Parts: sequence; C-alpha cells; structure tokens
Amino acid sequence: TSKVVTIGEIVVEIMAVHPGDGFREPIELIGPFPSGAPAIFIDQLARQGHPCAMVSCVGDDDFGWLNIERLRKDGVDVSAIRVHEDAVTGSAFVRYRESGDRDFVFNIRHSANGHIGLTPEARAVIAAAGHLHVMGSSLSSPAIIEAVLFALDEIKGRGGTVSFDPNIRKEMLGFPEMRAALDLVLAGTDLFLPSGDELLLFADAPDEAAALAQLLGRGLKAIVLKHGSAGARYVSADEDISAPGFRVTEVDPTGAGDCFGATFVAGWLAGRDPAEALLRANAAGALAVTKKGPMEGVSSTDQLDDFIASAEPVA
Ligand code: ADP
Repeated sequence: TSKVVTIGEIVVEIMAVHPGDGFREPIELIGPFPSGAPAIFIDQLARQGHPCAMVSCVGDDDFGWLNIERLRKDGVDVSAIRVHEDAVTGSAFVRYRESGDRDFVFNIRHSANGHIGLTPEARAVIAAAGHLHVMGSSLSSPAIIEAVLFALDEIKGRGGTVSFDPNIRKEMLGFPEMRAALDLVLAGTDLFLPSGDELLLFADAPDEAAALAQLLGRGLKAIVLKHGSAGARYVSADEDISAPGFRVTEVDPTGAGDCFGATFVAGWLAGRDPAEALLRANAAGALAVTKKGPMEGVSSTDQLDDFIASAEPVA
C-alpha cells in the first residue's frame, strides 16, 4: 500500500467543561487535547494500520510534544514535524453555548504553524509518499500552499493519487491566493470529499446533480459527499451508493469529517469495495462524535469491526 502524506496545522484544543457564553470570566477547562484537522485525519489513518506521515511544525513546548508523542504512538511518521525553538504551538479554546453554537479563542495565526514549509525532512517524506491528502482549510499561508502544490506535482508525477477535503467555510474563499490554490488542488484530485453544501463552491453548476456530473467530467475518479448524521454518498462514473449514518449520542462533533475521510481513504487505497469503505467511514465518523476532544474519537480497525457488528444503521 502507498504511504500517505498530509501537510498542515497541529494545535491543541482546550474545552470549557460547562456550556455558556465565552471566556470573560474564570471557568473550568479540560485539555489540552491534540487537534488540527490534518492531524486528526493522519492519526485516524495510522489507526487503520495505513503507513502515513505528516508535514507540520510545533513549538518546543508541552503542547507540541503532546501532539508529537500522540501521533508517534498511534503510528504516524513524525520525522517531518518540525520542532521550532522560537515559536509556540497553536491553541484553540472552545466553549459550547446551550444553543450548540461555539465560542472560540484562537492562537493559531502567530503560532509555529506559520513555519510549516519545505524542509529537507518534508521533501524526504513527500519523496516516499504515494498519496497526498489535502485539507483545504490548511492552505492558509503562501509557504503551505507552495509545499502542498510541490507535493501534488511530485506525487502525481510519479503516478500517485490525491484526496481532497475542502473543510472550508465560505468566508475563507475571500482570499484570492487560497481560492486559486484550492482550484489547482481540485484539478489534481482523484478522490474528492466535500461536506454536503461545499460541493457547489467547487462547481459552476445550479444543483448537486449537475455539480457531480461536471466534476466527474473533469477527471475526478470519485466524489464522497458527507451528510453528517444522515451518512454519506459515493459517486463515480459508474456507481452511485448512499449509506445511512449510525445512530449514536453526539457529545462533540469536532473531528467527525476527518475520521470519516481517513477511514474512507484507507479503504479506497486498500482496494475495498466502495460500499464497504463507505460503511466503515460512517462508523468512524459516528464513533468520532461520541468522545469529548477532537482526536479522542479516533478508532482502530478492530474497534470499527466491533462497532459495526453491534450497531444499527439508521434506515
Ligand atoms: P464534517 O465534519 O466534515 O462537516 P460531517 O458533519 O458530514 O462532516 O460528518 C462526517 C461523517 O461523520 C458523516 O458523513 C457521518 O458518517 C459521521 N457523522 C457526523 N455526525 C454524526 C452523528 N451525529 N451521528 C452519526 N454519524 C455522524
């Protein structure tokens, strides 16, 4: 199987224990929890037993080492995660409101993630990879964009493959540089993994059916639409498969799309039948929301097998 590489941010998340508004008074917190969408993705991929590496940067501090040790323990090649002496690891504080909305305090823009780039170690893991996974939300600096587009050209040039999860909010597309980079990534993508309503941001089409047809016509091999608790849909030139989600009690939705995506990519690269890969990915997404903490809901292949054997898919 081909080794997977992803490039992007690592942060810790610290969560308010009780729901409420913001952080303008002392409150009870839990964490730090390892986080960052590409970090959650790559950790879940490693838990699937798939060889993988991450290109990133953390500070030489406990938040950084917490992440590195966690990824290493779960089987990720961490050789291209740079430890920067003069930077701090990014952090995000999150508090849920009673309504389900979230308040954040971020320290990410000026964190060690700003030093992610094409180090010799990054070039080495890219040279050894057969598949690139791109998290669209990570394309937030010129250096990350350069590294991702370099990896894309390298890996595609060698006959490798690319998966792409936009993981994006519409506001992000306001930066022209990011929009242009996302379009370049999409042009090189084999497997596209948008959440339901992200699809139309990437096609010049009036509705979902037209968008799917247009993107498949441009050379994408397959598109997987994530539909939250409703499950997911796989569409290729000759298959269209929908799979319902699993009924679970949602505790923390963060990381569901990343765990879903990693599990689908692992199945796809291993040559699993798309229906089987979809089932397993739905199971991973469902398990992800049952645990507090963005990366705490990752699951091994054995845990997925046990869950699937005992759970009831929602009709
Ligand atoms: P994203 O996190 O990228 O926005 P979704 O919210 O669609 O993506 O979640 C990704 C996948 O995780 C879904 O397709 C589904 O398989 C699973 N999932 C998410 N939320 C739930 C939930 N409440 N119950 C069961 N499965 C869920």
